[in-house]
This record gives sequence, C-alpha cells and structure tokens, in this order.
Amino acid sequence: MVHNLSILGSTGSIGTQTLDVVDKLGLKVVALAAYRNIELLEVQIRKYRPQLVAVYDEFRAKQLRDNIKDTDTQVLSGMDGLIAAATIESAELVVNAVVGMVGLQPTLAAAQAKKDIALANKETLVAGGDLVTDAVRENGVRLLPVDSEHSAIFQCLQGAPKNKALKKLILTASGGPFFGKTTEELRNVTVMEALRHPNWSMGAKITIDSATMMNKGLEIIEAARLFDVSGDDIDVVVHRESIIHSLVEYDDNSVIAQLGVPDMRIPIQYAVTYPERYESPTAELNLAQIAKMTFFEPDYETFRCLNACKKALAMGGAATAIANGANEEANQLFRDGKIRFLDIGELVTGAVDSIENFIPHTVEDVLNADHLARQYVKDKVSCGI
Ligand code: MG
Repeated sequence: MVHNLSILGSTGSIGTQTLDVVDKLGLKVVALAAYRNIELLEVQIRKYRPQLVAVYDEFRAKQLRDNIKDTDTQVLSGMDGLIAAATIESAELVVNAVVGMVGLQPTLAAAQAKKDIALANKETLVAGGDLVTDAVRENGVRLLPVDSEHSAIFQCLQGAPKNKALKKLILTASGGPFFGKTTEELRNVTVMEALRHPNWSMGAKITIDSATMMNKGLEIIEAARLFDVSGDDIDVVVHRESIIHSLVEYDDNSVIAQLGVPDMRIPIQYAVTYPERYESPTAELNLAQIAKMTFFEPDYETFRCLNACKKALAMGGAATAIANGANEEANQLFRDGKIRFLDIGELVTGAVDSIENFIPHTVEDVLNADHLARQYVKDKVSCGI
C-alpha cells in the first residue's frame, strides 16, 4: 500500500472522504489543494501538516499564507500551485478530486512525474481523452478509478482472462431525483429540487449532473477510456437503490457485479490500497434489509445529455471535450438561476451538433475545444436560447 498522498480538491466531498480513509488507514498527507475554502483547508493543514498546499484562487491563497504563518506548510496558488501539488516529490499517489476540466493539467503533470493517480475527476478523462491515457501508458503509471461505477468495473475485471473476453460493461445509474418524470414535469423544476439526490451525498456540480443524467453520459465516456471499450459495448441500467455499482458481462454470458452500501469511501479506499483490501469506516451491506432491487431502461428522450455524450464519444476528437465544456458552463448557469433545467440538455446537444469537430493534439487544443463549447453556451443564453 502507498503511504504518502497528495490530495487535490481536499475540501470537497471526495476530498474530505479521502481524508476519512487516510485517518482509518494511518496514511500521510504530503500535499493538499483546494479551490477557495481556506477555512477548512487551514483545519486540514493543522491536522495533517502537509509540506505544500495549493489554493487555486490567488487572493484566498494570500489570505491563507497569513493565517498559517506559524506552520511549516508552503502555500502556492493558481494552476502552477495545483501542478506543484500534483508532482511533489514525496507523493506516491495523487488523488485528483477537483471538479471540472481544471483537473486536466495536474493529471497530465502527475503522470509525467511518474505518480500513480486515483482519479475522481472524470471531466479530465472525458475532455483530455487520449492525451491522458497516452500519458498514463507512456509513463507506466496507474490510473485508478475512484468513481463508484468505474471502481466497480475495475473490481469485476480483477482476475479476467488475458483476452479479457469482455462482452459489455453495464453502468448502473440511480436515475437521480427526477427519475420517471416527463419533459413537461421537468420544465419548471428548481435548483433546490435538482440538488436533492436520493442516495448519494455529493458536491453541487455532480448532483446537478446526476439530475440531468449528464453524469452517466460522462461516465460512459470515462468507462470507454479507462477500460478501452467501444461506446457500443457500454450499457446503462437505472437501478434506484444504488447497491449494485456496475457490472461486467463476459463472453460466456456470466455477469459479475460489485455491491456495497452507497458510500464513496469504499471506492476511494480501493483506489488507495489496490490491490489489497483493508477494514473500512463504512457500513456493511445488509441484503435482507434492502429486500429488493429494481432495474429500468433509462429515458433517453427526456434526459438528452445521455445521447449527446454517446454521440460525442462516437464522434471522437474534440467532441467529448465540447460536450463536457458545454455542460460545465450550462450546469453553472442553471445553479446561478440563469437558465432552466431542460436547457442544459438542449445546450449540450446543440454544442455537440453544431461546433465543428477536430482532433486535439495538445492540451491547448483541448482547452480551446472547452472554450468554444463554453462560448457556444454563453452566446445561446445571451440570445435567449
Ligand atoms: Mg459515479
């Protein structure tokens, strides 16, 4: 098991749960990075005494520097700070739990610095695509999934035969708070309603992505990239109870599933301790108490982001970065009360359909695709969609 961790996004939902795992396993934290929550970051600094912390927001970094003058922790800022935290010499594993595309450069830098990466930041893999998978392969590092579905598939693939004999991957989806609702019923839903996830406690961005099912669309792309599987061989099934976290179907029609209570500390811990397993701070699964599990086809007509992502994956090139960028912008605009819930699906679909696709060769190309998609959304919204 690795002992020294760098945690990017340490004040977010995955970051704080990673620190629970750190506490349970008695690991050491050598670097932390956060966006702007310096109050919680200071508490973490005083508890874990990391060598280095990065605060993305320059002004907040300056404030923190003053507040922790009495410690030995160095405070850096901006993208340079994030990259420094991702590449710090003493880290054996970098947990990337930042939200959004901003995680791309730190992920690439960590791979180039020969660090194993536990990836919770799916947007990086969706937008970065081959750039990320190539960097991981060329540097011989591990890219360990933290996303619960991908951790499940990764676990189901342990012991797979050499030729893999994979027929398909089956991603489970909770369906979010709006499962079963019609387009008409979703026309006027509020941010508060969309933030009410039935099973998982997560950050705001991913909770909205879960309500639109964009999250599952991103996860289809993430699975294709992580496990080198075509989008046609990835199915989605709505499973309301979130007990089966995903499944793998082999050529002999045997289907292997991974189950557990819906608690992110299970997949986080597996990524950190892989391939070993240790006691965990989570609850045990009690099947008799759960009593029944249900499964449904997803509603592709109402939740348009799913098809937009499938289409982007099939198109390849910059299309997945475009889908992701349009969604990051639209998701934020919805949370800010600037657009309606259903606009998100329309904007993501529109961006994938109308922005000219190209092959990104560099990080700058990916950032450009992201920029084009965000601009498309802003332009549409300013003309009243
Ligand atoms: Mg997930």
